[in-house]
Amino acid sequence: MGDLVLNRVIARTERLPSRPASSPLSPQATADLAESFLAPPPAVGGDLKVLLERLDEAADCAVESAGPGHLAYIPGGGLFTAALAEFYNRATNRYGGVAAVAPALAALEESVIRWIATEVCGLPAGSGGLLTSGGSIATFSATVAARHDRLGEDIAPGTVYTTAFAHHSVAKAARLAGIRTAHIRLVPHTPDLRMDPDAAAAMIRADREAGLRPFLLVATAGTTHAGTIDPLPQLANLAGRENLWFHVDAAYGGFFRLTARGRDRLAGVEQADSITLDPHKTLFMPFGTGALVVRDVAALHAAHEGTGSYLQDIAGGNVPDSGHLGPELTHEIRGLRAWLPLHLHGTDAFRDALDEKLDLTEHVHTALSGIPDLEVPLYPDLSTVIFRIRPTDGSRAAVERADEASRRLLDRINAHRRFVLSTTEIDGRYTLRVCIVSHRTHLELITEAVEIIRAETARIASEQ
Ligand SMILES: *Cc1c(COP(=O)(O)O)cnc(C)c1O
Repeated sequence: MGDLVLNRVIARTERLPSRPASSPLSPQATADLAESFLAPPPAVGGDLKVLLERLDEAADCAVESAGPGHLAYIPGGGLFTAALAEFYNRATNRYGGVAAVAPALAALEESVIRWIATEVCGLPAGSGGLLTSGGSIATFSATVAARHDRLGEDIAPGTVYTTAFAHHSVAKAARLAGIRTAHIRLVPHTPDLRMDPDAAAAMIRADREAGLRPFLLVATAGTTHAGTIDPLPQLANLAGRENLWFHVDAAYGGFFRLTARGRDRLAGVEQADSITLDPHKTLFMPFGTGALVVRDVAALHAAHEGTGSYLQDIAGGNVPDSGHLGPELTHEIRGLRAWLPLHLHGTDAFRDALDEKLDLTEHVHTALSGIPDLEVPLYPDLSTVIFRIRPTDGSRAAVERADEASRRLLDRINAHRRFVLSTTEIDGRYTLRVCIVSHRTHLELITEAVEIIRAETARIASEQ
């Protein structure tokens, strides 16, 4: 059975470069296939080979999110060696909620967390955190820790500060943590789409004067929209002055700190109280791998455990119980799927892969900027390039026509099924985005992508 599954997975993985970037099935065929999978299990078992064939059909009826052409949203490629680690992990099935049950594996996981906290993020020794199912849960636990640390139980007047470009998981986390929706403040942004620190300071002051309790400032280090990085050092200073917990959502951007360019652009992350990262994006891990790292592990522990007994767990460099640092208890040794690839390939391999993504992004930015019918409004901080059809003049009608043309451009690009792009809205404008994160995306695919964008833009322009 193992050979059968492994051979099939290897064959699928080898086909990835030539596979369509999205499902070629018609809407009706898609609906029929999905319907057939709603059937309950049979009383009498079936044949593994037949079942694997069915699985392949289901997996093919999807965006090819593991392939090199996945340039939509924030891609995550799913490293094959992480899948091998995970097979070992799931088959040995060690318990990950309490360190004493599998102490060496808990230490292995802690080594990954400490590497992320200190080497990647630049937090001081003694910082730590936990691996989560994703960025959303990481930000939730950070918000709960901030609330517990800064507000105690008087949470009704608590206010949170972020921007319109923050990921929606930030507002979701605040609401789940009991913060009123009306107290989630969207700080205005500067023309380059970054949080305006002066505007944030003014809002915090006004809220305090109105009797509210500002307690949490959430900056984004790599927005989902455009990959922009908020001015972290200024925001860290502001949070320090105002005694706010400073959280950085680096779900997308965090691991770019492994590169020299990324470390430069992401300066200030090391001043955060807590940081969300997503190994299932920029560390190429399979989905279901997020991370939260914090400066003060005791604060995270106190918020999730609710008793004072935490000190005995974290004193003397011991490995804390992950079940006391977040909402989950029973779960797998989540760090194993990162530990094996990190030790097998070495951290330089990850740095080089991310450096390659930055090079490819600069290449796309230069190429698209040279197409006169396109507007390319920003130089990329990370690995996202945003663009749209340039309006013929500044009139409202021309802008609407251009946005409509951008919509058609997206459909035509994606109809090639060689790669998939997604869109966003930036200051009211319909905007396409190329986001390069997968470890499988290389220059060959990017060259082809630029040529397709160039040809389809020319077609659209000739029709205008
Ligand atoms: C992806 C993303 C999130 C959400 O993380 P999940 O892993 O999808 O829960 C949060 N913030 C940013 C900036 C992201 O890119």
